[in-house]
Amino acid sequence: AKNHGKGHLAEFNAQLGADSLRRMTMERKLKEAIRRDEFFLNFQPQYDLASRSIVGVEVLLRWQNEELGLVPPGLFIPVAEQSRIILDIGHWVLEQAMSQNLAWGRAGLPMLPMAVNLSALQVHQHDFDEQVTNLLRQHAYPADRLELELTESVIMDNAIPVLRQLEQLRSSGVRISIDDFGTGYSNLGYLSRFPLDVLKIDRSFITHIHEQPQQQQIVQAIVQLARAFDLQLVAEGVEQEAELAFLSSLGVERVQGYLLARPLSASQMAELLGGQKGV
Ligand code: C2E
Ligand code: CA
Ligand code: CA
Ligand code: CA
Repeated sequence: AKNHGKGHLAEFNAQLGADSLRRMTMERKLKEAIRRDEFFLNFQPQYDLASRSIVGVEVLLRWQNEELGLVPPGLFIPVAEQSRIILDIGHWVLEQAMSQNLAWGRAGLPMLPMAVNLSALQVHQHDFDEQVTNLLRQHAYPADRLELELTESVIMDNAIPVLRQLEQLRSSGVRISIDDFGTGYSNLGYLSRFPLDVLKIDRSFITHIHEQPQQQQIVQAIVQLARAFDLQLVAEGVEQEAELAFLSSLGVERVQGYLLARPLSASQMAELLGGQKGV
């Protein structure tokens, strides 16, 4: 049994070594990735459920590295956060998202609100609001075409300073959205204290909702919350028509998911927006 235990420990250590080596390699490559132009954005449309027209776009970051290939954000974002590289990356994403939307506008395509994901580190910068408003000014970008997606824990980890930042941003016209709603925090008091526009219902509540009575109860409660606090709702991760039909019966207006569209390249998104001209 002893030997067995030791074997496991050695295996565990080797695994740990491999993991930290992978992490260090990734960190080194991430530091160069902006300069080497390895990041690009994908765009996933959000639809008005009733009319099935596109009413918004979520920006999703992609990293293509020569040796590592296409690395999923779930893998590289934690590394970028720990090494604080996410601050530069996050700035790049915001700037790139604005430039892309302005380019679409110049091409005669509708400029829909762009939802950009933020990491805790970004929002916890004392001058984050100024960074964003500076970008808006520099690009002459309409603030109401920017939606910032934050999770509940990002808000609550540093509640008072974050509240000030968000109030500042929102007064300039930027919209604030709570991502993965329902998974992060059980105290809902912040809904009345924070300046919010959108709740994004987490995918875990949407998957198979049509056959899961408990999920239906949860989403029904979220719909009521959204009404009470005058917030828009987005259901994310919709993969089936049956889910869509159920969400419609609950009164959810906006939906996002593989059923309607996967995350698209900029040119695919432009093509899709072209079909919506005049909206
Ligand atoms: P998220 O913000 O919750 O984004 C939604 C994720 O669900 C995306 O994964 C999207 O591709 C995926 N998705 C959309 N529709 C469906 C569906 O119908 N079914 C399923 N199974 N998945 C769906 P992705 O692009 O891999 O991003 C993963 C996470 O990485 C995001 O989760 C977000 O937390 C983070 N992320 C992505 N881009 C950025 C960024 O620019 N900055 C920061 N800080 N985080 C980002
Ligand atoms: Ca998101
Ligand atoms: Ca500030
Ligand atoms: Ca989400």
